[in-house]
Amino acid sequence: RLYVEHALGAGQSVPLTREAAHYLFGVMRRSVGDGVLLFDGQNGEWLAEVTEAGKRGGMLQVASQTKPQQMPPDLWLVFAPIKKARTDFIVEKAAEMGAAKIMPVQTDHTNSERIRVDRLQAHAVEAAEQCGGTYVPEVAELTKLGALLDHWPEGRQLMFCDEAMAGQANALAAQTHAAAPWAILIGPEGGFSEAERKRLHALPFAHPVSLGPRILRADTAAVAAMALWQKALGD
Ligand code: SAM
Repeated sequence: RLYVEHALGAGQSVPLTREAAHYLFGVMRRSVGDGVLLFDGQNGEWLAEVTEAGKRGGMLQVASQTKPQQMPPDLWLVFAPIKKARTDFIVEKAAEMGAAKIMPVQTDHTNSERIRVDRLQAHAVEAAEQCGGTYVPEVAELTKLGALLDHWPEGRQLMFCDEAMAGQANALAAQTHAAAPWAILIGPEGGFSEAERKRLHALPFAHPVSLGPRILRADTAAVAAMALWQKALGD
């Protein structure tokens, strides 16, 4: 199952990149005449046949659609990047859980000042290929949390995962905002600063949430929060 940057439709010829050819013919041992599932993130999933197979490339012929396009709910995962492997994990899990957009943010206690968006985007593609989805979430450039909140889009609700709320009752006003677009906010290993917490608690669109009685690692918290959101508001 492959993601291709090529708008798919019946009868089309799709050239393969060197990496895709290596994966299909070298790793997966596919050859001419074999079927491959393709998706482009916009036009559903399609069955294609290998018509040329080489070490540096190849060609596929698109046959028929196997799945219509499914768009995820309009959910952003906003998180403070942590160590490389754990940031990769968060992006992978967000793509699997059906986030529409993944937004790394710098907070007062965030250590990393730079991220490799291309690398993270590749992780999102791999996760979408593996989980059977037809959509690949966009990974945004690193922005400052304060600037993001300054320009927060009207109507979007924010599930603010606040470690200081651990074990307390949640204020997730699920029913009230069921139809709204949402974002989930996860802090860094050092947690949110007092200034950030004060600001977030005062914002009308932010809903402080507890993820249970224990303090979770940021990567665990991201998965737990998406599951909680999905149960309360997802489809
Ligand atoms: N250093 C912080 C402390 O000791 O309180 C912990 C930060 S935690 C490792 C990273 C992030 O995960 C937090 O900023 C928060 O967004 C989320 N988180 C972890 N456990 C949580 C909980 N029980 N309730 C709500 N959010 C939680």
